[in-house]
Amino acid sequence: MSDLVLENLRKEFGSFVAVEGANLTFEAGKLTALLGPSGCGKTTLLRMIAGLESPTSGRILLNGKDIAPLPAEKRKFGMVFQSFALFPHLNVARNVSYSLRIAGVDAATRRARAQELLELVQLGDKGQNRIGELSGGQRQRVAIARALAQEPEIFLLDEPMSALDAKLRNDMQMELRLLQQRLGITTIVVTHDQREAMTMADRIVVMSHGRVEQVGTPQEIYHRPANAFVASFIGNANLLQGQTTARGVRLGDTEFAVADHGGFGAGQPVTLFCRPEAVRLLDRAPAANGLPGTVTFVRDEGVAREVHLDTPAGRITAEIPGSFHETVRIGDRLHAEFPADTLHLLPAIESKAA
Ligand code: ATP
Repeated sequence: MSDLVLENLRKEFGSFVAVEGANLTFEAGKLTALLGPSGCGKTTLLRMIAGLESPTSGRILLNGKDIAPLPAEKRKFGMVFQSFALFPHLNVARNVSYSLRIAGVDAATRRARAQELLELVQLGDKGQNRIGELSGGQRQRVAIARALAQEPEIFLLDEPMSALDAKLRNDMQMELRLLQQRLGITTIVVTHDQREAMTMADRIVVMSHGRVEQVGTPQEIYHRPANAFVASFIGNANLLQGQTTARGVRLGDTEFAVADHGGFGAGQPVTLFCRPEAVRLLDRAPAANGLPGTVTFVRDEGVAREVHLDTPAGRITAEIPGSFHETVRIGDRLHAEFPADTLHLLPAIESKAA
């Protein structure tokens, strides 16, 4: 079981900085998701770890040893690509045992290992099939089995679900997570899908413009985002611009109480952050932390209902249990209440814009 540590890992393409000095620890036996929008540098970071891209500077430490100078084939890492990159002219078993053949492992051992891996990914009866005869989900399982053939120390996956349809993607997320936990293999998954990261990962690394914005458990990232970018990338977020006061935060004419000042002193511009499910909608003004507004949008989502309210401080999104609010209609005048313990202060959006 191996800890992987990145020290100031940086990649430039000409004058463009794809990854700014990243400092990260990938814990042994855990699944870490690299999450961020297209172009944020997550694939470049994964490719540096795999040895497919050489860093401009920095170190990649595996059990304390710098592996950055090692070529990809000298790293005992298994990789699954977005396209799966299977060999169409080889049957399923030969795809799985391909790296063992290259490594000079004898035929009987190769066959036995391929069968064992195919059983692990529930394709025990498909060894003799051609790749073209398999469904998308089955191909992905073959790619996973192939990447595991040489018992890699680290398992790397680049957008492994993106070629699958929505239903299959959900199933495979769960399957991959169970397999990873069963094998206890240190795993890094690149994804731009926040739900995928939340479903699968022990820890999430959120990236933007080549920078690591936050590292944390799915719960930490969701409930205590470090800034407005993370807050809105990881789900719906109410982000209101205000200024701290001695007691709370001023938004226009209203002063809000907050349970935690998040280290901000009085008189500073801040972003007030609250998840939609924490907002309450009332038909009269609450004693504190309320904003009046007009309903502009209602969407029934089965168990919950999403409601947009235009208020003097901007548009608010509330998620409320459907059955209690069947009468909410567009045009209704309501009050949004933000309980003090569900409000968090983040750096003002303007100061992050650079
Ligand atoms: P996506 O999800 O779209 O793959 P990403 O977050 O994985 O995005 P990267 O593929 O790491 O992003 O790319 C980060 C940035 O580096 C992008 O702006 C990309 O255009 C640039 N880039 C990547 N590879 C190269 C290259 N070989 N030469 C020049 N620029 C590159």
